[in-house]
Amino acid sequence: MAETFRAAVVHELGGPLVVEEVDLPVPGPNEALVKVTHTGVCHTDLHAAHGDWPVQPSPPFVPGHEGVGEVVAVGGAVTRVKVGDIVGNAWLWTACGECEFCESGWETLCHSQKNGGYAVNGSFGEYMLVDTRYCPVIPDGVDRAAIAPILCAGVTVYKGLKRTEARPGQWVLVSGIGGLGHIAVQYAVAMGLRVVAIDVDDAKLALATKHGAEVVVNAAGTEDAAAAVIEATGGGVHGALVTAVNAHAFPQALGALRRGGTMVLVGLPPESFPLDIFWVVLNGWTVRGSIVGTRRDMEEAIDFFARGAISPTYTVRSLEEINDIFDSMLAGGIDGRVVVDMSA
Ligand code: NAD
Ligand code: ZN
Ligand code: ZN
Repeated sequence: MAETFRAAVVHELGGPLVVEEVDLPVPGPNEALVKVTHTGVCHTDLHAAHGDWPVQPSPPFVPGHEGVGEVVAVGGAVTRVKVGDIVGNAWLWTACGECEFCESGWETLCHSQKNGGYAVNGSFGEYMLVDTRYCPVIPDGVDRAAIAPILCAGVTVYKGLKRTEARPGQWVLVSGIGGLGHIAVQYAVAMGLRVVAIDVDDAKLALATKHGAEVVVNAAGTEDAAAAVIEATGGGVHGALVTAVNAHAFPQALGALRRGGTMVLVGLPPESFPLDIFWVVLNGWTVRGSIVGTRRDMEEAIDFFARGAISPTYTVRSLEEINDIFDSMLAGGIDGRVVVDMSA
């Protein structure tokens, strides 16, 4: 094995990533070294590289938390995977396993968690480390490029949809039909929900229709998008999942809720929005945040994919194109996800 490998490194928040040789790490007791073949590119990687959020990563670091590859070496305490297995990394790279959150099936809220491609180097390189107690294990025979977007986008929207508490036959709004949103439409349909999609781009809405949305609303071309949703659903949606990277989408989704409905915040524009206390109270609305998913959510999300219920739309590109990929993402020019093929 080579002593170094090619990776896309953030040296300065807001600066371009540099594709360069970095040292091959040695796996710790519970870790595995993985030869990455594919990785999805999430908007979170862009937020990370730009230092958009209150908690910032420290350069130099390698982003990426939708990586898939083959285990090539394992640490001394590893029991869950072996050399040759196909695994992924995830945003929830590791957690403490002992706190009140970890103990109660909420490891995604663990204060001591470490995040892939943020606090720990991620999958934008030919090799990565994973904590084998937390990494997703990929079933035999699945397409590695196609499953990459499930490892963040998929699990996040699957968990978020569950948190809307919408039941089969009810309406759910998916706002923002990007990498996360186009997959959310598919999970929602697979879960028996009826889907309304909102975006500001007709091409994204066409993707939502292709994946099973019954109603689409272009918020840029409609004076009152919430009113349009209320009209089309006979009184508003039971649940709303907001993945848009734009603060305006949030009050709009709230306004589209039926009485008693729940809005789940997943998109992370670094802004806030006003909540009208009177209407939240009178309408009995719930507003909650949702962050990725637990290991159990991940297994369930992967299972939907492996059974053929979810098929991400993606474009394959090379690691060298990473800055270009980020530019397209900022400009809203990506249909579905970009998946980097390390051999391209
Ligand atoms: P993306 O860039 O692929 O998609 C964003 C979509 O939002 C685009 O389709 C864009 O057209 C749409 N949009 C922009 N303005 C809009 C508006 N006003 N109304 C409706 N839609 C609008 O991004 P992504 O990879 O899908 O990630 C989306 C967000 O989710 C990011 O902020 C990311 O950091 C966050 N995220 C959160 C979690 C979590 O666990 N909560 C996990 C992954 C990603
Ligand atoms: Zn914990
Ligand atoms: Zn992500």
